[in-house]
This record gives sequence, structure tokens and C-alpha cells, in this order.
Amino acid sequence: MNTSLARQDGPAFGAHAFIWAGEWSREGSERVIFGAARAGLDFIEIPLLDFETIDVGHTRSLLEDCGLRCSCSLGLPKEDHLPFNPEGAGRFLDRAIEATVALGSSTLTGCLYTHLGTLTGRPPEPEELRTVARVLKGVARRAADVGVKIGVEAVNRYETYLLNLASQANDLLDAIDEPNVFVHLDTYHMNIEEKGFYDPIVALGPRLGYIHLSESDRGTPGTGNVHWDDVFRGLKDVNYRGALAMESFAAVNEAIIGATALWRNVVGDPDVLVRDGLSFLREKGREQGVLS
Ligand code: MN
Repeated sequence: MNTSLARQDGPAFGAHAFIWAGEWSREGSERVIFGAARAGLDFIEIPLLDFETIDVGHTRSLLEDCGLRCSCSLGLPKEDHLPFNPEGAGRFLDRAIEATVALGSSTLTGCLYTHLGTLTGRPPEPEELRTVARVLKGVARRAADVGVKIGVEAVNRYETYLLNLASQANDLLDAIDEPNVFVHLDTYHMNIEEKGFYDPIVALGPRLGYIHLSESDRGTPGTGNVHWDDVFRGLKDVNYRGALAMESFAAVNEAIIGATALWRNVVGDPDVLVRDGLSFLREKGREQGVLS
């Protein structure tokens, strides 16, 4: 089984599982994987919530039958917020890496450094950032031993105080200093935190390994305020070969509602999200020569 998301001819194009189902049960995973296969995607992003309950064999055979690959993503549990509980976070991340390998993936990304929603009311202390870098360095080395790359996603100020900007993620990579760590951007968070979309992408260059394509309200891409031409122009200009994942939450569970403050339905008809959102992103990617 090929565990890499990389394609010969350009970036891999996929989507977050929550577009189809809020639970990675047998039934939920079937809905997601069949939906992604029908949409012609390269991969599906599996959120590692309650990953000890995942039927790994079932998921792997579904993926293989459908010719799909997967990435894995997570946010830390509240009790394992990294600066407050570095040992707990390290143990949780080590188990998540095992689950990533078991699912046949070589990519674990997302909020590996924070619980979403834990705020201190203060900017990050230098000591907190040193702790994050120290723990993730150890995690990265153990991940490298089993062929896994890890990503750090910069998210908005209301969800974390630790890492809001691409430039901060870049500084964290300097501090971690391991070759299998990449930056993960998300256009929803960029729309809140960055001055624009093009410059942060180009400034990261090859350090950008994963991007969530998400509209400004987390609804259907193409219907909001994200400057999609600037996003894809930036990806084109850095010759992006990482993964492109549409992220939107048509199906959610309570953990995600709480973590992302999603108090209303921003999607409407999930079939329209899949059809119009994916075709919009494909068209924009092709216009800029990012997707073939
Ligand atoms: Mn995201």
C-alpha cells in the first residue's frame, strides 16, 4: 500500500471526512470513503477522534477497494494541552502516530501542539513555545522511525493563543529542526489572521506541506470572502507538491461543534457542498496550473 499522498503530476486533492460523516464508525467510514471515491478524490483526511475505537482493518480494505489514500489529523484532548501537560501530549501523539501507521498513512497533521479552545488570556510565554518545540522534536524523531511526517496547523486566535500565523509556524519549524515536520495552513484561519493569502504561502515555500481549503464561514468554497485566486497563485509560484484538502463541516459531532464554535449550519445541502465546492476548487486549481 502506498502511504504517501504525493502525486507524480502535482499535489494530491482530497477532503476532510466531516464533509460526509461526523463519526468514523463502520457506517460513517463507508459513507465517507464511497463519497470521496464518487467525487474522484485522491485521499480522505481521517480525524483521529476516539481513534482507539476505529476498525482499522475495515477502513484499510475500504480505502484499498476504492483506490484512495488517507491522511490523519487531530487536535489534542483538553487534558493533554501541550504546554500544560507535555508528557501527556507526547504519549497521546505517540499513540496517534501508531494509529496513523496502522491506517496506512504517512501524514499526521493538525493541532498537534494545542487543545482547541484552551486560552490563557495571554500571548504564548517563550517557555511554552520551547516546551512545544522540545516535545514535537521528540515526536518527530519517533515518527520518522516509522516513516511518518508531522504537520503543525496555524489556527485563529479564538481557538489557540500559541500559533496563529504562517510566520509563527515557520519559527516553530526552526525550533523543532527536524526534516519530517511541515507547516499546515488553512484558508479559513488565514482569512482571520493574515494580511493576505499569497505572501504567507510564498514565504513558506517548500515548508508548506498541507493546506485546508476552507471558505471564510467554513461553508462551500467559492461562496465567501477567501481570495482563491491569490491562494492558488501562491501555490503555483512555490510549485506546491503537498496535499490540498477541502475542509468544511457538513456533518459534525459535539467535539467539533465545541472546538470550532460552529453554532449554526453553514453548509446547507451537503450534496451541493460536495458538488459545487469541489468543482469550484478544481477549476481554480486548473486555472492556475496547480491541478491537472
Ligand atoms: Mn483546518
